[in-house]
Amino acid sequence: MKALLVHPEFSHHGFWNYQEVCRLAGAKYPAAPLGLITLAALLPQDWQIRLIDMNSAPLGDDDIAWADLVFAGGMLPQQVALLKLVERVHDLGRKMVVGGPDPTSQPTVYASADYLVLGEGECTVPLFLRDLEAHVDSGIYEPDELRPDVTQSPVPRFDLLRFEDYLMIGIQVTRGCPFNCEFCDIIELYGRVPRAKTPHQIIEELETLYSLGYRGHIDFVDDNFIGNKKRLKETLNAIKGWSIAHRYPFFFSTEASINLADDEELLELMRDIDFRYVFVGIEAVDDLTLRASNKNQNLNREIVGDLEKLYSYGMIVNGGFIVGFDSETSGSARSIADLVRDGRICMAMVGLLNALPNTRLTRRLHEEGRLIEDSNLLGEDDSSCADQTTMGLNFVTLRARAEIVDDYLYVIREIYGARAYFARCLHLARSLRPNQLHRPSVVEAFKMLVAFGRVVLRLGILPPVALYFWRNIMVVLVSRPANIEPLVNVMSMYIHFRRQSAHIVDAVQRVSEAKLPMRFRLAEGAAGPHGWS
Ligand code: SF4
Repeated sequence: MKALLVHPEFSHHGFWNYQEVCRLAGAKYPAAPLGLITLAALLPQDWQIRLIDMNSAPLGDDDIAWADLVFAGGMLPQQVALLKLVERVHDLGRKMVVGGPDPTSQPTVYASADYLVLGEGECTVPLFLRDLEAHVDSGIYEPDELRPDVTQSPVPRFDLLRFEDYLMIGIQVTRGCPFNCEFCDIIELYGRVPRAKTPHQIIEELETLYSLGYRGHIDFVDDNFIGNKKRLKETLNAIKGWSIAHRYPFFFSTEASINLADDEELLELMRDIDFRYVFVGIEAVDDLTLRASNKNQNLNREIVGDLEKLYSYGMIVNGGFIVGFDSETSGSARSIADLVRDGRICMAMVGLLNALPNTRLTRRLHEEGRLIEDSNLLGEDDSSCADQTTMGLNFVTLRARAEIVDDYLYVIREIYGARAYFARCLHLARSLRPNQLHRPSVVEAFKMLVAFGRVVLRLGILPPVALYFWRNIMVVLVSRPANIEPLVNVMSMYIHFRRQSAHIVDAVQRVSEAKLPMRFRLAEGAAGPHGWS
């Protein structure tokens, strides 16, 4: 059997698609498709398997013609690209197997696929393979109640990747999250009891990457890395010993809830293996909104103090925020922009609240008759360009929709203005205690030097950005020279954010000039003087 695994394209305007910055560093895309190489490890190993990531390489008709079966999966922002792929594969007379998070959340959208392999692959891939062997030519394979035991998961097929195409390679330690945020689909997909791989499995994955010659950035792709702290500490201890023995070939990043700041032992362990970035979902600033959305782990906290703590352990914090909750007031946007500034969050992902399929939020809005099921009102005309920052408000809002949009654009303009962005970079670099246990090899150091030259050509010669850029370099060279590398890294991300934030403003303004369908205008009007008309 010849199997072609295809990773569909993400929007070029997406928040996480910083290809422009990747190119400066000699890569093509930020992260490798971990889901597909995990699937590859679940397929019979005597199959011929090829992988094409459409984010880093073109997919030719001859690639499709080569295959007996084409496999693809994806998340919501890849939906349009994935559906186009199914059509293309069928036009070329091949069969299509589809799976992953979005097909699992909304299988009916993917009815055109020949085989729909839903849920976690460890459960459903064997069911699909059994049917394939029996020459069954289509099917839907759904998970049962029991979630798979990830301690039995195989090592992903890292050998299928071209490491040089990516800035980072992903590893998954846990699935699931113990919290219960109303808008979150992770807990619907993976459950609220985190399931963790064993320390031995993680070391095996690191060892595989090491022996394949990979060095540098590893991202733990868990949705909440600290969901099972006890097991995690064992794993981090094992990584620590392994890293020392191998002279720190890797440094790390992840996503975690803000209560990470409460656990000094965990923070020390993360520092000891060179953790450099952590994404934290902050979402909202006022307690009323946090309580209403069940983001209870963020309640009654001194968020800026928590961020300071993480900086003192060498971790740069990327923050997630949402605009559009029912309980927001006209002051909420100002509070978010202030927190981004005071918390020195250089990379802040601010999105409009989106009722994702199969979430408690969606079910509640549906019951309240407020869900606009068939419309992505603040997505774009071409929804293939939409992502988590521009899709959203797919429900009848309680506040005036125009006010919410204005608040959103206010935050975006405020935090991604050049002066504000570079000021945050400078303040961050002055407060960060660097880890830097991973020392770049000669090749990595050369690449970094070339990348720095390219960043200078993009940021260091055009006013007014050049002024902020060189001021920051000078100040940090004098006051915190060890932080020059993280400083240049966060400053170079401005190349992406400048373009991406301009795109958000343009897209949201363009679409907000459109009209809501009449029935929704009436619904909003009933709740107050709302709507766009
Ligand atoms: S903490 Fe994050 S992953 Fe966990 S339920 Fe909340 S949004 Fe979802």
